[in-house]
Amino acid sequence: MTAINILAPEVADAIAAGEVIERPASVVKELIENTLDAGARRISVDVRGAGRTSIRVSDDGAGIPADELPLAFVRHATSKVAALSDLDAIISLGFRGEALASIASVADVEASSNGARIHIRAGEVIELGAGPLLPGVTVEVRDLFANVPARLKFLKSDATENAAIKDVVIAFALLHPHVRFQLGMDGRSTISSGGDGDRRRAFASVHGAEVAAEMLEIVGMPLVTGMVSQPKLSRGTRDGIVLAVNGRPITSRPLAYALEDCYQGRLERGRHPIAAIDIGIDAALVDVNVHPAKREVRFREEGAVFAALQRAVRAALGASEPIHYRTQQPAGVAASREYAPELVVHGAAVLQLEEGSPNPSSAGVLRPIGQVGPGYLVAEGPQGLVLVDQHAAHERVLYNRLLDRLGTGLGASQPLLMPQAVDVDPSLIAAAADHRADLATLGLEYEEFGPRSLRITAIPVEMPAGRATAAVQETLAALSESRGDQAMHKAAAALACHSAVRFGDVLDPAEQRKLLSDLENAEESVTCPHGRPTRLVVEWQELTRHFRRNY
Ligand code: ADP
Ligand code: MG
Repeated sequence: MTAINILAPEVADAIAAGEVIERPASVVKELIENTLDAGARRISVDVRGAGRTSIRVSDDGAGIPADELPLAFVRHATSKVAALSDLDAIISLGFRGEALASIASVADVEASSNGARIHIRAGEVIELGAGPLLPGVTVEVRDLFANVPARLKFLKSDATENAAIKDVVIAFALLHPHVRFQLGMDGRSTISSGGDGDRRRAFASVHGAEVAAEMLEIVGMPLVTGMVSQPKLSRGTRDGIVLAVNGRPITSRPLAYALEDCYQGRLERGRHPIAAIDIGIDAALVDVNVHPAKREVRFREEGAVFAALQRAVRAALGASEPIHYRTQQPAGVAASREYAPELVVHGAAVLQLEEGSPNPSSAGVLRPIGQVGPGYLVAEGPQGLVLVDQHAAHERVLYNRLLDRLGTGLGASQPLLMPQAVDVDPSLIAAAADHRADLATLGLEYEEFGPRSLRITAIPVEMPAGRATAAVQETLAALSESRGDQAMHKAAAALACHSAVRFGDVLDPAEQRKLLSDLENAEESVTCPHGRPTRLVVEWQELTRHFRRNY
């Protein structure tokens, strides 16, 4: 343990200045950071009155030497940084010696450690004396902002402030599964993580067992660790995404986009994954001293970090499974709302039985049984009965094929005997011109034909000629909505959609067999390119249970 020292002025001046304590959740964040820096394994947080009445954090970490307790509350007093060069490679969560001082200046604070106790109100030491001889540190913050009414006024509703506090504890609990976190709010236990190092159990304590069972672990990637949700689990907001660098939660839009990009074609528009991802990186390659609340960081090599994150997430997603049918809805299944009511994500018990089995999307052969309803195929697979949405499945197969063509540059098109004139918006003509070569690779060839019209001369081999007009209009619209690779992917999805068999088309047995085997061999075949599921598996086990053949 290094002693607490007041930073030399040149070091203090090099620290990103600004408001550290904006709301009760900032207090919780700073106090938790201190406990983790002190090596705590058990951290309990008790909040009353949404953090306005009191916030109490106690830990079992290294503690503060009794004679240094007052010093800990002095501005720029820290045991974590000494020289200016220390700021180049920060390995602790705290480093500016400001949190305790900032908190004590806007609240009534009592702290105890190693038999000493200090009471400070609005920055003034009121009492310094003996305290309990317990491991770690206990800090209690009361009447936050009582002496700064302006800031008190800016606080949101109790529910909002409580939610912000909860988010802070959730992020740390997910990122530090070997630490036991307990959060109580007005005497009610809100979060209680096991601290046994098991990430899935940490997820269960935060998001529930059903969600935890469906999370995919990021494995074998030294730089990136954590868990991401399978595409069948999703949310309408980004609130379930926790990103971190060296155990420090951060906000980073570009990083969040990099994550969501991995779900492209697997999640429907407006849906977002659940994730906790920690990027472990050499402290010298990341600057954490850029934001007063330490929320943002700057990477020395941002591109490499993003690429590592995407590689890790894509590898984890490769293990996604198709959706399984369950007759009984387990109580409180958070995921069940994500799809139509008859599609219920199977529970943890079923998943465990499957562990160790090969990726079901590539295992075994689907035996076609027939077509039912307006457009479903029925097949028998090694795991059970498989129902396939023929349109979604065909879309996936064609989409992958089109992306392959883009990748290899080897196109395949069918010339139209009679070129078709299509009316399009002038802006779309410009969008088409920007991507002319790629469109040709996808099979779409055209001539400009006046300011608002194109003459289509060739279409993808798989596309029925009668659909060219609508297909071209939608493809160009999709193209103009995005940029770069994204734009061509969207265009490919539009072409795949218009080339695929329709829901309602009658397929003869040979066509059914071909589609099922193409689907089985397709990558990422769990969903169509728009993120809808392609199939539903009713497991043998499920039938056994239903018909009570298990005894
Ligand atoms: P910083 O974390 O940036 O150093 P703080 O104001 O948060 O600044 O804390 C000041 C110092 O008090 C820390 O450097 C550390 O030595 C000590 N300290 C604070 N909280 C704890 C704790 N929970 N356990 C052990 N030491 C602590
Ligand atoms: Mg600190």
